[in-house]
Order: sequence, then structure tokens, then C-alpha cells
Amino acid sequence: KLVSREFHPEDTVIRIGDVSLGAENLTIIAGPCAIESETQALTIAEHVQRAGAHIFRGGAFKPRTSPYSFQGLGEEGLKILAKVRETTGMPVVTEVIDHETFDLVEQYADIIQIGTRNMQNFSLLKRAGHSSKPVVLKRGMAATIDEWLMAAEYILEGGNSQLILCERGVRTFVHHSRNTLDLSAVPVVRKESHLPIIIDPSHAAGRRDQVIPLSRAGVAVSAHGLMVEVHHAPEQALSDGGQSLYPYQFERLCQQVRSIFGTF
Ligand code: PEP
Ligand code: MN
Repeated sequence: KLVSREFHPEDTVIRIGDVSLGAENLTIIAGPCAIESETQALTIAEHVQRAGAHIFRGGAFKPRTSPYSFQGLGEEGLKILAKVRETTGMPVVTEVIDHETFDLVEQYADIIQIGTRNMQNFSLLKRAGHSSKPVVLKRGMAATIDEWLMAAEYILEGGNSQLILCERGVRTFVHHSRNTLDLSAVPVVRKESHLPIIIDPSHAAGRRDQVIPLSRAGVAVSAHGLMVEVHHAPEQALSDGGQSLYPYQFERLCQQVRSIFGTF
């Protein structure tokens, strides 16, 4: 299989402008859950860049559980992401949720994200396989690692080898967190596959107070990067405010994970 180490013994490294993801790098992706306005995005981007983030995240098309929740700004959100890139120089990652908007998202994004709910949306995976842009494929919230790697195989088989895996927690019976971060996925994936794997502690925890410890743990198990939600005013966030870090907390997170990474 294309995803396996037997096929490709060396670690895959994804290059997005000046940023490298994979192998010996620790790459930090940060930003709000959703793009809410130009001011919001630029304010957060400035904070996370100063703290040490390499890539900016923000949803324009949001996959929300309730149809009454904020669905994202759509194309306007993509234009704001382009503005963030222009202003800060950071590459931007944003989620694609369906086939209809794929071309549009692809035009604006430096990295295309496929979320947990679409991990086995095979037609979307095939489309991503034909994209010229790198893809982040999140693990399905109830997917085994084999199912996740087979989903990745769809993208590689389509000809796109710029693929990053993201562990974002799986559903369990507990109530102390939104999902359960499967840290053991990191060594398993690193052994089985050459693809980079990052950790999303924010959607795993669902609450701010667990994000820094889970980030430290993610780096300790040798994830290639982190994707973290940050908001300058989480209490006013239109989505996932409860798990979004304050800028000062994100700064602390960066300092702590860099010092752990530095001990390897
Ligand atoms: C996100 O990162 O914006 C997101 C919706 O995450 P997930 O697909 O992991 O729930
Ligand atoms: Mn979110």
C-alpha cells in the first residue's frame, strides 16, 4: 500500500512555502475554530505568529452538529484567510466539507483539511487525491487506525502524496472530555506509515484546561506537529470558545512544547 513504510521507507516531509512538516520538525498550526471577521482573524493571527505558530488555521465552511449553529462565513471567510496569508506570510489551512465547494476552497487554501465527519467520504477523498494542495486528513471519531490509513490510501492513490494525518480524539464513554485523545495512534502510525502525524488537542479535549497538557503529551510521543484553537476573546467566539486558548496560554504552550521537543 502507498501509505505503508514498506512502500516508502523514508519519512514524508510536506513543504508549504518556508514551512516543513514531517520527519524531524515540530510544526505548530494555530488559529480560531471559525473565521468570524477580518479583525478577529488578523488579531488572532498576529498573536499566534508572535508566539511561534508556523501555520494559521480557521474554518470558513463549518461542519456543525446543529443546523442552527454558525455555519461559517463561506467564501468571505476564505477571502479573509487570503488576507491573513498576505499580511503575515503564514500559510493557511481550512476545511472542505463537500464536493460543491472543493474548487473554491482549493483556490484559497494552502492546505486543505478533511474533518473527522468526512474521513470516509470516499468521493471527497478521491477529489482530494486530485488536488495540487497538501491535505490534512483527520481521524474519524470512531475510526480504527486501519480505516484511517485506508482513507489516506484513497488520497495517495489519486496521485496526491502531500498528506498529513491528524489525531483529534475518538469517542468514548467518558464525560470529562469531549473526545479521548488516542496518543498511542502516534507511535503506531509512525511505525506503519511514512506520513506525518499531528495532534489536535483542542477537539480531543473540548475544554481549554486540558489543551496544554495534551499538547505536551503529543510532542512527547513524537507527533510532527500540533493544531490548536486560539481566540483573543473565547467567551465571544461563535464556535468552540470553551476549548479555545487565550493568547497568553498559547504562548505558554509554545514555550513548553519547544522545551520538550528540544530534549529529543
Ligand atoms: C476543525 O478542526 O475545525 C474541526 C471541525 O475538527 P474535527 O473535524 O476534528 O471535529
Ligand atoms: Mn473547532
